[in-house]
Amino acid sequence: MSMGARTRINVCFHGIGTPARVLETGEAPYWIDHRTYLDVLDAVAEDPRVRISFDDGNSSDIELGLPGLLERGLTATFFVLAGRLDRPGSLGTSDVQALRQAGMTIGTHGMDHRPWRGLDAGHRRRELEEARQVLARIAGTPVTEAALPLGRYDRELLGHLRALGYTAVHTSDRRWAREGSWLQPRFSVRDGDTAETVRTTMLGRQSPARLAERVLVGTVKRLR
Ligand SMILES: [Zn+2]
Repeated sequence: MSMGARTRINVCFHGIGTPARVLETGEAPYWIDHRTYLDVLDAVAEDPRVRISFDDGNSSDIELGLPGLLERGLTATFFVLAGRLDRPGSLGTSDVQALRQAGMTIGTHGMDHRPWRGLDAGHRRRELEEARQVLARIAGTPVTEAALPLGRYDRELLGHLRALGYTAVHTSDRRWAREGSWLQPRFSVRDGDTAETVRTTMLGRQSPARLAERVLVGTVKRLR
């Protein structure tokens, strides 16, 4: 770890408000109500270390996520699922274009929201290459960043992502990141979080024990 590398705190949202589609197993805890979303945004808006992202391409990204950002002069990266575009409850093609026009960044979360570990060559092409191409075509700009579905990864997967030229890969490892690092751990905001829990668990100084634990998790994932 180089000295003086600036800290980044990546805060990730999924769904806001009431889902307009059937949720996947285990997904409900990642939906927060609108008030909580705005409170969390207010808690992080003034912190220059924070970078905001949205996963899964839910329609709440454009309906509630974007207005909250714009009201506060914030930008974010939206990691969209190419396979869900234009389906009920998910972003439409024109929504992705509207996000771009509003100054937001479009990243890829793959095609079908399946873990990227251990994919065969065909599924790997679909998830890592075709989804990215679909999103780049719609956004009208290259897609250079990816967020790992369900946060799962291993060394082999990271090798594939590097070979494909991704400039940053976003995980869900719940610890601080360093500016410019290729791997960017993120904190997901979950049901039950408040502005206060975000301040203490994400923005607050990381205790050495907790930090060591999170670094270990990341190291194990990279090496396995
Ligand atoms: Zn996801």
